[in-house]
Amino acid sequence: MPGKERGERALPGKGTGSKPRTKNAGGAPVPAAPRETKTSIEEVKVNENLNRRSTLLSCQESSADLKSEQAVRPDRLGEYIGQTRLKSMLSMSINAAKSRGEALDHVLFYGPPGLGKTTLARVIANEMQARIHLTSGPSLERPRDIIGLVHQLEEGDVLFIDEIHRLSRIAEELLYPAIEDFVIDLTTGKGHATRTMRLPLPKFTLVGATTKAGMLSNALRDRFGFVCRLDFYTIEELSGIVARTAAILNVAMEAEAVEAIARRARGTPRIANRLVRLVRDFGHYQGAEIIDGATASAALDSYQVDALGLDVTDRRLIEIIIDNYDGGPVGLETLAATIGEDSDTLEDVWEPFLIQRGFIQRTPRGRMATAFAYQHLGRAMSATVSSKILLNSEVKQLDLFAEKLPPQSGQAEV
Ligand code: ADP
Repeated sequence: MPGKERGERALPGKGTGSKPRTKNAGGAPVPAAPRETKTSIEEVKVNENLNRRSTLLSCQESSADLKSEQAVRPDRLGEYIGQTRLKSMLSMSINAAKSRGEALDHVLFYGPPGLGKTTLARVIANEMQARIHLTSGPSLERPRDIIGLVHQLEEGDVLFIDEIHRLSRIAEELLYPAIEDFVIDLTTGKGHATRTMRLPLPKFTLVGATTKAGMLSNALRDRFGFVCRLDFYTIEELSGIVARTAAILNVAMEAEAVEAIARRARGTPRIANRLVRLVRDFGHYQGAEIIDGATASAALDSYQVDALGLDVTDRRLIEIIIDNYDGGPVGLETLAATIGEDSDTLEDVWEPFLIQRGFIQRTPRGRMATAFAYQHLGRAMSATVSSKILLNSEVKQLDLFAEKLPPQSGQAEV
């Protein structure tokens, strides 16, 4: 749209991050302040029940996270630490799309919360020098939500849909032609007077994010050019993120402190950033000018985060499997009811890290505590439990993200 400033549109609760470009009087491009325009779509609070979990190590976004978010969020691929294979694939594809003057093909990111899916969507928009519109699956319930949204799109824009597995059937079907052929079908009137009009849309890039790839319909999944899985970060990668965040927040930290935080961050950048802020506050309270390893460890201990990143809630979950179910297997629903949590939250927020780090095994008959979990909690295993665990060590661990997405023809999987 000529004369319209490029910027970013966000849902309430989502910050802005892209660096839109505009022109000054002389026509030279200058960075414009990110523009935050609220869409008419209302954010749906989908995770209200999460505040029951200890918020410290929850990978869900808190209001404190949002405050410091803008400063620490990487804007460009070069600043984005880790996910190396994914980054090099994106960099290649972005360069190719830019050199052809086309929008990037649609991208799907999947993996547990807090690993950087939203950040990558913003990075893509920045690298493509495009606007980004942020919304989420549950917010696009009615046809008019979708129509209102796609109506705002301009050539090359990025449309980010978080929790895309929660799109309603109607919304999904309206989106198909928009994604595939860049058209939208508008239906007017009722009964015999029903008319359908097909309207063209500008070429845009859909970036979808989900923690539950297995819940995505095949039809929707097949429409993405790239399907990318985000993995938990290594200690080295998290150390890089911790050091970067500390530098941005002007916190002087010794290497031992950086590593202590990285080790307890559950492989998740969102948690790493949160722990940096907690350690900073603890250090200020103690009057420490430079945070050393001992101060960082004392801070983390005071928040009851143990050396492997487990908090009170994690330990309680494992203890329940051990004490109430003799080590398991126990079904997800039963476990959720015992803990007083809903099964989705248990599966999406609590379990992925515990499974990935070998504390819990997800078997077809339910969840089991591993020998490593017994050892970490200092619990003795009875002979029955040992043989149960031994028997199950042959059982293949079910995939962390419910289902691995096999690449479709012409689709790149990373
Ligand atoms: P998700 O969308 O997967 O839940 P986000 O993209 O919101 O996760 O990332 C959570 C936080 O972690 C953000 O504040 C972001 O700044 C930070 N972050 C995520 N990935 C990285 C990374 N690779 N390097 C540095 N910071 C990151």
